Amino acid sequence: MYAAKQGHGGPVFATGLDDHARARLTMLEELRAGLDRGELVLHYQPKVTVGADRRVVGVEALVRWQHPVRGLVFPDAFLHTAESADLMGRITGVVLDLACRQSRAWHDQGLAVPVAVNLSVSNLRDPAFPEQIAALLEHYRLPASALELEVTESVLMTDAGNALKLLGTLRDRGVRLAVDDYGTGYSSLSYLQVLPADDLKLDRAFVSRCDTDPRSAAIVHSTVQLAHSLGMRIVAEGVEDDGILDRLREYGCDYAQGYGIARPQDAATTTAWLAQSPGVSPETGRSAVPNL
Ligand code: C2E
Ligand code: MG
Ligand code: MG
Ligand code: MG
Repeated sequence: MYAAKQGHGGPVFATGLDDHARARLTMLEELRAGLDRGELVLHYQPKVTVGADRRVVGVEALVRWQHPVRGLVFPDAFLHTAESADLMGRITGVVLDLACRQSRAWHDQGLAVPVAVNLSVSNLRDPAFPEQIAALLEHYRLPASALELEVTESVLMTDAGNALKLLGTLRDRGVRLAVDDYGTGYSSLSYLQVLPADDLKLDRAFVSRCDTDPRSAAIVHSTVQLAHSLGMRIVAEGVEDDGILDRLREYGCDYAQGYGIARPQDAATTTAWLAQSPGVSPETGRSAVPNL
């Protein structure tokens, strides 16, 4: 999708470059128009306890672009370009609004669970960002604890000083924070010293091999201990089968997320999934977020 065309004849390198630049501009033009037309949608992937009852403790909002011709476009295909064109402030604004609106709807149906939203570098450079979050929560009458923000290590490492300050402000107001894709960045430990995060999400690269590869198992096990000794909960990402879930339980891991538990699904499918899962229930209105 949006890949540069192969050059036929002529200076292939230069032609390739031109095509790449043209494809990028076309995509940006379409993305801006798509934003105006409301083509971004969210899919939601549940996060559950590792215990046998698999109680749902939250859902993660994952953006998709419902393109009129190309169909559903995944974030890896357009977020990098969007970031380079300074569009992430706007995209995150749309994602946060959709996520908070859905959270409000779930609450009204007695299915309230915290919703996690992924942030990008530019969000953490925007001094108005905490106010934007506060305004949204107020608009949808949601407590700060209804929202969790996920930040990858690489985002934290760019411009770490300001990022940490801004995240500190948000957390002081009660918004939950998670370190995403833990273990894949360049520096994994320095910011853990100072970052007030609630959850550590251990990357799929380690989790997916922990039942077959002793080195991955050792990394998972010791990261669980590291997170707990820092007062954080640990989420295993990319859990694709029950064998891994058994192993995670053995290691004392708190939460799991992955295709083996539930794939990311549209809002309607997620609503049905939440309604039949333990931890939230439409009958009793029991909520994973107290007092929401
Ligand atoms: P992420 O935040 O680490 O999200 C997890 C990604 O792994 C998702 O891909 C999800 O569909 C996929 N995944 C979940 N479970 C499994 C599994 O068991 N096996 C495998 N192979 N994959 C699994 P997705 O939705 O394509 O998103 C990719 C990345 O794009 C996300 O990684 C996140 O970094 C970014 N992203 C998604 N939505 C947003 C957004 O609204 N804003 C920003 N800034 N980034 C976003
Ligand atoms: Mg994430
Ligand atoms: Mg992740
Ligand atoms: Mg990722």
